[in-house]
Amino acid sequence: QAPFLFPCTYREFFFFFFFLLQQCGVLLSVFIYLFIHFIPIHADWVATLWRDTFEELLNDDNELDYGDQWTLNFNYSQTAAVTKEERKRGWKVYSHCAYATFQCGSCSKNWSSARVVVLFRYRLRGERGTVIMRPFGQACRRCQDNEFYLPGFAEKEVKHALLRLFSKVRKNCYNDEDDHDDNGSSTCSTKKYTKPHEASLCQACIMGICCQDED
Ligand SMILES: [Zn+2]
Ligand SMILES: [Zn+2]
Repeated sequence: QAPFLFPCTYREFFFFFFFLLQQCGVLLSVFIYLFIHFIPIHADWVATLWRDTFEELLNDDNELDYGDQWTLNFNYSQTAAVTKEERKRGWKVYSHCAYATFQCGSCSKNWSSARVVVLFRYRLRGERGTVIMRPFGQACRRCQDNEFYLPGFAEKEVKHALLRLFSKVRKNCYNDEDDHDDNGSSTCSTKKYTKPHEASLCQACIMGICCQDED
């Protein structure tokens, strides 16, 4: 019986082996590149995401199925205060606490926060429902320049916030007690680790309307 013959010299074998290893390295680099570039960070404020999700929940999921026309608008300076006059005209507020990501405009640093306030002012008048939203910003820990950047939200967070809002609307504008409104608080949908909340860097804290501590 013929002895086992190696199909190539050891030299060729090692050359081939290292060639394969190198190819794996290239493949790995490609994966790392794709990972970095295509894992969404959502650090930018995108008003259209809110408006599109709002429309989608109303038109496709019939979240407010009472025959009225609801619209979402933005006001970047409104506060949580409702005057007597406004209350008479039907305005109500709902302050939601969400998870979002920020990006500093001067040093490009990214950070996430589970205490990002989104303030909604809403009312139903005749057959027209209006929601006015304001996202609250945070300042960069590194730059400390009192510049507040607007939060970027993942679609899941947007949906969660709007569903909570709609349940408030059903309750306060249509007297429809919600069965799935089990917890009255606006707790964050996701428990993620973020650095301790710094009041001096949070626009909502400065205005005294930040989310309550959960414990
Ligand atoms: Zn910065
Ligand atoms: Zn705060």
